[in-house]
Parts: sequence; C-alpha cells; structure tokens
Amino acid sequence: MTAIVDLRSDTVTQPTAAMRAAMFAAPLGDDVFGDDPSVNALQERVADMLGFEAALFMPTGTQSNLCGLMAHCQRGDEYIVGQSAHTYRYEGGGAAVLGSIQPQPLAQNASGQMALADIASAIKPDDCHFARTKLLCLENTWNGHPMPMDYLAEATTLARRHGLAAHLDGARLFNAAAASAGPGETVAAAARRIASHFDSVSVCFSKGLGAPIGSALCGSKELIARAHRVRKMTGGGMRQSGSLAAAADYALEHHLERLTDDHALAQRLARGLQGIAGLQVRSVQTNIVFLDIADGRGPDLLAFLKARSILATGLIGLRFVTHLNVDSVGIDRTIDAVTAFFGQGAEAAPTLAKPGASVY
Ligand SMILES: *Cc1c(COP(=O)(O)O)cnc(C)c1O
Repeated sequence: MTAIVDLRSDTVTQPTAAMRAAMFAAPLGDDVFGDDPSVNALQERVADMLGFEAALFMPTGTQSNLCGLMAHCQRGDEYIVGQSAHTYRYEGGGAAVLGSIQPQPLAQNASGQMALADIASAIKPDDCHFARTKLLCLENTWNGHPMPMDYLAEATTLARRHGLAAHLDGARLFNAAAASAGPGETVAAAARRIASHFDSVSVCFSKGLGAPIGSALCGSKELIARAHRVRKMTGGGMRQSGSLAAAADYALEHHLERLTDDHALAQRLARGLQGIAGLQVRSVQTNIVFLDIADGRGPDLLAFLKARSILATGLIGLRFVTHLNVDSVGIDRTIDAVTAFFGQGAEAAPTLAKPGASVY
C-alpha cells in the first residue's frame, strides 16, 4: 500500500510516541478549580517564553482569539482587522455574534499587510456616531507569510499612539519565528521578539508544533482574568485537561527548532515545481506552498493527486503544507505526480487564476 502524503494542513499530524508518553504521564487535576498541575505548568511556560505575565490554555485558536477580542473590547467597541484575516473571516463572525464587537476590516496586500495609512484613517474619533475603536488585530504568519519586524513595530506603534491595544493571532507564530530568527537566535527568542509588540498573543499547539489539540492566549494578568471569564462563558472550562497541556508542553520543548525542517521541505517542493508549464509557485517563506494554476483545473489536479495517495486542498490556488509527518520521499512523490499531471498534454499557456480562498 502506498503511504499517504497528507499535505492538506499541518493540523493532520499524529502525536509522536514520546509525546504520547508525556501525555500519559502527566499529573492531572480539575482545571476549573485551577488544580491541574500540567495545565498550570504549560501556562507558565508559554507566558514566560513569550514574555507575558500570564497565559490561558484553550481547546482551539478560534476560542483563544475570541477570548482575547472579548477581553480587550466591550459591546459597541471595534477592532481593526485584515479583510481575509482568520479572526474576521474564518471564525464564524464570533466577535460580532458573541461579543457585540464591530469588526473594521481593511484590505491587505499580497503579504497580508494592511497599509498604515488605512489603519490610521479607520480609527474613529470619539463621537457618538461611531463605534469605539479599541484594538488592532494582526496575524503572523498570514497565509504562510511572516510579517516583517519593521511592519509589526510600525503598525503597533501607530495603534498605541491612538490609544488602541494590539492583539496577534499567532496560530503559526513559531513558524514566523523560525523564518525570522537571526543568526544564532532560537525560535523561542524570535517568537518572544515578535510577541513583544503586542498586548496579547494567541498561539496554536495543534498546527506545526504537532500537538493533537490546544492553543494559548497570553497577556497581562488582568487581561487573562477577563479572558478566563469569557472562556468559561463560551464552554471552554475544561477539567483534567493536563494530558493535552502536556502534549503542548512537550511540543514547546522538542518541536520548535525542527520547524526549519518543515520550511526546508516546503522549499524543496517549491523548487521541484518551479518551471512546470501550467502552474506558478507563489513565494514560499515558511511551511506553506501555494500554486496558482489554470482556471478550473484545481479539482482535476486534486483528484489526480488523491488517486496517488497525495492530499492537498484548494480549488483554484492549491495549498500544500509541510509538517512533522511528511518527509522528502513524500515531497518528491508529490513533485513527480504534479509533473505527471501537467505533462499529460493539457491545454497549453493557461491563464493564471485569481488566488483562491485560503483553507485553514
Ligand atoms: C488555525 C488558525 C486559527 C485557529 O484555528 P482553530 O482551528 O480554531 O484552532 C486561528 N488563526 C489562524 C491564522 C489559523 O491558521
């Protein structure tokens, strides 16, 4: 049987044997009473690592972002966010639905950045006609793009000058960190440098880090106390969740520096696909490879790959994500399969399609 190469997302990983052993061995308690030592240890570790006073373990990144937004903003407040940011577009409108917080979405460039001038002009004056603009929300990485450090500094400084707080949706913060780390700098140190621009940061353990479940929201003690109330209200008060926290803790200990392996595999895939007539590879900086191909051929390519036990997502802009359960053999099989697909004499010189919606 051919092994499946699952490149749909970095969420598809299986916990390693060592991670499972750490989960099995984790001391447990009732976390609603604050009694779970493994949850407490994880929260301290991640807060410490990213330079915050406190952290709160959550089942998902969606809940972590929601708790962050609702801890920053009251009913009738507003947050500024990218038009295709996860916290605006891919979280069921939770901030508006559950928090009565108005999103102010802004256009993003191809790297996910909102123009500083657009941010400045979206900040409303204190006037009864307007919602109160309270928060700037950024995302890093965005569609696999790490945000430049200068941009993070400038955008958050602008926000502060207008009295706004800044939240980072850092579902893949550690991928951004691995891509942004300077010579000799650890991934953790780079992540802390990114996080230093923000009042709160949400990170996911269930993506590139390889844990089965979990996210954390980091911030001041006061902010996390407010988020704690929202987490309970939204059904996220978990009990003996320490075995899940232990998986996340294991990942922070053992899976940070290896993210560069995923990035190298993504580069290998991008290089292998470059130059195939009929497709264009977008610039790859972390573990996500996007291909633009001729209009309408996406489903055919996906089906062709699936028949060869290779899984990817997307209809127009195809997405391949590397992670700790993929290796160079799987990547080379993928390159061969895509090459074979385009070599079967399909229509020449196709027009490039618009980038498709991202799939998380
Ligand atoms: C995956 C992701 C989230 C959170 O997703 P969950 O599936 O709820 O854990 C948030 N933001 C971004 C950018 C993501 O990629």
